Amino acid sequence: MRRLQNYVDGRWVDVQCEGAVPVYNPATGEVIAETPLSTHADVARAVEGAKRAFASWSRVPVVKRARVVFDFLATLKAEREHIARMITTEHGKSYADAQAEVDRGIEGIEHALSAPTLMMGESLAEVSEGLEQTYYRYPLGVVASITPFNFPAMIPLWVMGWAVVTGNALILKPSEQTPTTTLRLVEMFHEAGLPPGVLQAVNGGKEAVDAILSHPDIVAVNFTGSTKTAAYVYETAARHHKRVQAFAGAKNHAIVLEDAVLEPTVDGILRAAFHNGGQRCMATSVVVAVGSIADEVVERLAEGARRMKIGHGFEEGVDVTPLIRREHRDRVRAYVDEAAMSARLVVDGRPAIEEHPEGFYLGPCLLDGVTPEMRVWQEELFGPVLSVVRARDLDEAIAIANRSRYANGAILYTQSGKAAQVFRDRIDAGMVGINVNVPLPVAFFPFGGHKDSFYGVTGENGKELVQFFTRKKVVSTRWF
Ligand code: NAD
Repeated sequence: MRRLQNYVDGRWVDVQCEGAVPVYNPATGEVIAETPLSTHADVARAVEGAKRAFASWSRVPVVKRARVVFDFLATLKAEREHIARMITTEHGKSYADAQAEVDRGIEGIEHALSAPTLMMGESLAEVSEGLEQTYYRYPLGVVASITPFNFPAMIPLWVMGWAVVTGNALILKPSEQTPTTTLRLVEMFHEAGLPPGVLQAVNGGKEAVDAILSHPDIVAVNFTGSTKTAAYVYETAARHHKRVQAFAGAKNHAIVLEDAVLEPTVDGILRAAFHNGGQRCMATSVVVAVGSIADEVVERLAEGARRMKIGHGFEEGVDVTPLIRREHRDRVRAYVDEAAMSARLVVDGRPAIEEHPEGFYLGPCLLDGVTPEMRVWQEELFGPVLSVVRARDLDEAIAIANRSRYANGAILYTQSGKAAQVFRDRIDAGMVGINVNVPLPVAFFPFGGHKDSFYGVTGENGKELVQFFTRKKVVSTRWF
């Protein structure tokens, strides 16, 4: 079995401890690698090298740092298909979705080339007589990024580009469930000319994260993952006086008004709910069907869900791919079992478990008559389960969505500009769609939610990450 290694000081190194967890191909259940579980000593070794690298990298002019990112971009584009295949193999998502993921990651790296502009400070020549003031941005030092399983290329690419181009040295801890893609990206960045030590990949789970959170020389932590872990990371990093932001779980609502154009609406909802096995922080997991249109919405969703093709990620035209682990699939199934006792299970995806015993499959599940009192509405399932809640009008629909502890994405399907305006202003979510199925901001716009979907102040992407990964100095100057 291929035992993975850490990437430290520009080369692959063994992890000191014996402990490891398997990496699966979720479509076959086959173990494809082993992720070693780094200890405090492994993390400390990576931080030592990163500190040395930071001393010189932070003094390389930002234009030259951006040139390394530019060369990385070229190799990334050349290896696009290879990276997408790695994603499908270890995550299970369709090859088309994996390619789209790489493209969104590339977009983030392309935008990181704007660092020389976005790192500019500001000046005022005469704040008072003979006195000028200027603020400059400087890198922070050794920073860390902890990433989730569901976007093993896109999220690490977003973070690594900005962390490094702003002059920091980055300790990157990929998900132990899908590390192979991320590790290859780290290696590629070095092949493109990144100096050793500037980007260190450390494999592992909780112990590696704890080592990062308590290490005195790591000054900032950027995290993406479930809400429970995000809260832990946010609190622990803050207790150790680090700058921290944590992107967390979601329960995204799509409200369908009576004037919605049903065909593209239903098609969009089905994709947003069931592609990637529903394992996206931007997946739609609740539909709020408003007024007299509700029966037809449910009927059309059911028809579409029954038609969806279940299969492995390399299959042509596949819609619903396996979940990341058998235990996770069983956990999602248990939610469906429970919900079916109080809501109406219109489409039952559970038979797919027996029909596809080779992997961690669950077919699309559609529940009607769900209410905010049910666990299936309250909690993030991260699986192919779509709940329909019924509401009288837009006001009630917005109130239902805003009762959620999460506020990541939300969508309104309508032809009414007025309704769209009301929705935009009153919905709690940070990423809002009007007739847009997955309202994921492009790389130039801030990414992030509110409430229990995000702990922090700034956000992901361009300007936000420049803000997060730099500190400001204001210099007051007078000449006699
Ligand atoms: P997770 O919380 O299990 O793991 C995320 C990271 O934290 C991994 O690197 C993991 O090794 C580490 N980790 C796990 N348990 C830990 C613990 N007890 N202590 C310390 N570290 C721990 O999340 P996941 O299952 O990999 O990813 C799915 C979750 O991520 C979903 O909840 C999804 O909504 C969320 N997510 C959010 C966004 C966003 O931008 N808001 C984006 C992608 C995924």
